[in-house]
Amino acid sequence: MSTQANNDVTTRDTWEEAEEAAETTLAQQTSKLSLNANAAEFRPNVYAKEFIPSWLPQPAQTLSEPVVEKSESETLADILVEGTPPLPKPAPVTENETEKKTAPSSTIATASTSTQITESAPEEQDEHVDAELLKELYGKEHLNVVFIGHVDAGKSTMGGNLLYITGMVDQRTMEKYEREAKEQGRESWYLSWALDTNKEERAKGKTVECGRAYFETDKRRYTILDAPGHKNYVPSMIGGASQADVAVLVISARKGEFETGFERGGQTREHALLVRTLGVNRLIVVVNKMDDPTVCWSKARYDECVTKLTPFLKGSGYNPATDLQFMPVSGYTGANLKDRVSEEVCSWYSGPSLLEYLDNLQALDRKVDAALMMPIDMGTVVVGKIESGKVSKGQTVLIMPNRRAVEVSLVYNELEEEIKVGLCGDNVRLRLRGIEEEDISTGFVVCSTLAPVKTTTAFEAQLAILEHKNILCAGYSAVLHVHACVEEVSISALLHSLDRKTGRRSKRPPQFVKKGQKVIARLESSAPICVESYEDYPQLGRFTLRDEGKTIAIGKITKIIESE
Ligand code: GDP
Repeated sequence: MSTQANNDVTTRDTWEEAEEAAETTLAQQTSKLSLNANAAEFRPNVYAKEFIPSWLPQPAQTLSEPVVEKSESETLADILVEGTPPLPKPAPVTENETEKKTAPSSTIATASTSTQITESAPEEQDEHVDAELLKELYGKEHLNVVFIGHVDAGKSTMGGNLLYITGMVDQRTMEKYEREAKEQGRESWYLSWALDTNKEERAKGKTVECGRAYFETDKRRYTILDAPGHKNYVPSMIGGASQADVAVLVISARKGEFETGFERGGQTREHALLVRTLGVNRLIVVVNKMDDPTVCWSKARYDECVTKLTPFLKGSGYNPATDLQFMPVSGYTGANLKDRVSEEVCSWYSGPSLLEYLDNLQALDRKVDAALMMPIDMGTVVVGKIESGKVSKGQTVLIMPNRRAVEVSLVYNELEEEIKVGLCGDNVRLRLRGIEEEDISTGFVVCSTLAPVKTTTAFEAQLAILEHKNILCAGYSAVLHVHACVEEVSISALLHSLDRKTGRRSKRPPQFVKKGQKVIARLESSAPICVESYEDYPQLGRFTLRDEGKTIAIGKITKIIESE
């Protein structure tokens, strides 16, 4: 194994091969998912990670080249699995370039509103972003990592230890946790306390979302996104995972635990499948607890875990050659987290440590030069993840869908430090001047004044029905989750069904659609929502439909119908 991501091209054949299995597994697995929380209790941001993962070999110069047109014959696996993530269309343009063009396609919402933009479009202040600064910031790129896996696999312990070994939590604090944990008879838990304390502290701050922790290496800044292992937390995991660039699947190698987590209806399968569904294309599988007395860094046990997991993960759409990286670790002792495990402890593994691997993942493709789009996650000091472009202090931006031009007076990073510019992929807080709290809500989008996000109440989408006890007909209502936005929608018309084998569209509109089928439908929302077609901005064009606490369908927007 090498420290670099494997660069083999993901071939069409491989994906097609995986597709059938994925389809079957998905239908089976998703139907078992206990997505039983009330839809109103969480706000999954189901936008895709369209950052074309660096590990998918895409030389920089090809990024702006046109993609092979995708036909409607895309299969479910195509929807779920971004084997070859589509490139944005039109190719990202810089704000300056945008200025030169007349009415770029993505700017037009309606005739009347676009007039409004032209009239009121204040100058964007990109001069704040000098090349040096970009280089500096880009040099230490930000990566969102979600830890997934069965409860007790060791996610918190590993997270806590990562904070410790990267110096985010000092030794004295760690010793304090150790003492306190000992007093409470939970000695082995002390490392996870670092993560939990961090959560608590952050939960106090009004504008900071809980469940996140941060650490830095010499090369990168990391956000650990929370993904609780308990069944009931699956919906909140969706929220975390949908913002992740990469997932770390934690597997316990301890005798009996691997079996519980994976073989006997544990959450390992669900989580792996869900993150894939949410567009996380890269999975690092850490076989944990290798130090445990029942394991003792046994190669045979490690191999057993890898051998059993591989076919399943392949079936979920991960290509073992390009998307998966296995490694043995001990989150508890820290072996192979930062420093490679020593020869004496483990003679048979010579691959990278976890941080070494994460640090060396090729730079993610981020559309820093494209129009700014940042779905608002909360508050008046708005919080969200920049999905496209960059935002700088002093810049004038538009809040959509209410089309209000406001000034960004301050930009903070995830450590609550003031920064000059936030880049695509960063989680930031923006203090806005010129707008009141009541004029902003979750799911609105901060965007470029020149190329604002589209706003609509109707769109066409390709839907893959995962789960529903009855047939679905026109008139059916469900809750749409797209990026940070949650809105009631109804299927106003079923337009075409898609043939399972050929993917061909039916000429006649189907009367109904049921579990396992795919359909092109027209959807209407009760209020205007900010969305883009999947082809242009995957992270703003991919969604889930939920009803009665279950994910009924996943979909991608194929066409936005402009409002009259
Ligand atoms: P989570 O539910 O996945 O967050 O798991 P925790 O981090 O809370 O760990 C569950 C239990 O496994 C605790 O008792 C930990 O001390 C123990 N544990 C976690 N990681 C390791 C490890 O690498 N080695 C050993 N031996 N035990 C571990």
